[in-house]
Amino acid sequence: MNISDSERIRTVIESMGYEETEIEEEADLLGIVACSVRQKSIDRVYHRIHLWNSWKRERSLITFVSGCILPADREKFLDRFDLLFSIQEVAQLPDMIRQYGVATAASVQATRDVPDIRDEFWKVSPSYRSNIEAYVPIQNGCDKFCTFCAVPYTRGREVSRPSEHIVAEVTSLIERGFRSITLLGQNVNSYGLDRQSDEVRFSELLDRVGRATAGHNVWVYFTSPHPRDMTDDVLETIAAYPTLAKQIHLPIQSGDDEILARMNRAYTLNDYRRVVENIRGILPTATLFTDIIVGFTGETEEQFERTRIAMEEFAFSMAYIAMYSPRPGAAGSRWDDDIPPDEKKRRYHELSKTLISVAGERTAAMVGTHLPVLVTGHDRKGHLSGYSEGRLPVRIEANGTAAPGAFVDVTVTSARPLSIAGKAS
Ligand code: SF4
Repeated sequence: MNISDSERIRTVIESMGYEETEIEEEADLLGIVACSVRQKSIDRVYHRIHLWNSWKRERSLITFVSGCILPADREKFLDRFDLLFSIQEVAQLPDMIRQYGVATAASVQATRDVPDIRDEFWKVSPSYRSNIEAYVPIQNGCDKFCTFCAVPYTRGREVSRPSEHIVAEVTSLIERGFRSITLLGQNVNSYGLDRQSDEVRFSELLDRVGRATAGHNVWVYFTSPHPRDMTDDVLETIAAYPTLAKQIHLPIQSGDDEILARMNRAYTLNDYRRVVENIRGILPTATLFTDIIVGFTGETEEQFERTRIAMEEFAFSMAYIAMYSPRPGAAGSRWDDDIPPDEKKRRYHELSKTLISVAGERTAAMVGTHLPVLVTGHDRKGHLSGYSEGRLPVRIEANGTAAPGAFVDVTVTSARPLSIAGKAS
């Protein structure tokens, strides 16, 4: 999401005549698209702005910050940065820069009070970083209020982008030869629920994207859906279009019902199990990725063990495992963070081992099979690198003719737990 935000910010800045420099010390304008998921990234923001402000003694420089900003950091950032704006305000950035130092009224309000300027934000066309892969935001914000997460406070409530804008952006990406498109949102499968009278639901949006991309050489992904809203019509639509990639990222977060309830996830392990059964039934070739938090407040050894067993049961191909840390502003931050860091680490390593084992069985079974791979670049040894439709990283033994952006047929010759390698056939 930050990559996508920065692509829009870049367009606005370049439209004012600014040019990119590789030399930070020479820039007239420096900014950060912040992420509040972990404290470490926020600490880096403070470090950076301290450095930039020290340069201001010698030369003129404008600094800005945007992205996911916790209410607790907002006031402190306003003291340190010249400009602070929410991503919905990006179209107003030229005015802010012209009036440098004067933050807009909207910037200092809590995010939920930001006025409805969403359409201006969506209309800014991004300056894509790549000419192979693109991220297309379909919504911003979240209404779910999971107790460990600050997104509803940093990005505000859920707002869906008009579907005709989304389909138009996807169509233009196809025309420009992009090979991988990811529809982005905090909660993609509740798309349209905030505009029920004038907008389609997520499955219909996917259907329109499927029609717009049909017959083209492209894989369309989406991230992240919420298990609660994962309906069969979404899965059936993916099955209907070869361009809709058979890969699902479905955050489970925990395998224990009491922890799930305290996380306010609004599903049980059994509900999650039913969704996975439907995925495996309707999309048998799909890879399944997930997110998991270990060491959430009060998580007992038995509760952690249920998560580990769930990992075995669902045999994820990839899991992004995080050690819990309270986010200021999220409801869970009022609870005692009572699992010691060493114990969180132990659970993290334990779960990583299980992931390596279950994912490794899946990749080992792929040896000898053939599959198309999207080439995205080269690795350090000069081999081509890319990924499969299921988004597994693939290393391809040198094939001088294929270039990034090409789809190559690969015979899988070896496997690691989380990646595969093969020869171009
Ligand atoms: S973790 Fe929960 S609150 Fe945070 S963005 Fe996802 S669904 Fe929304």
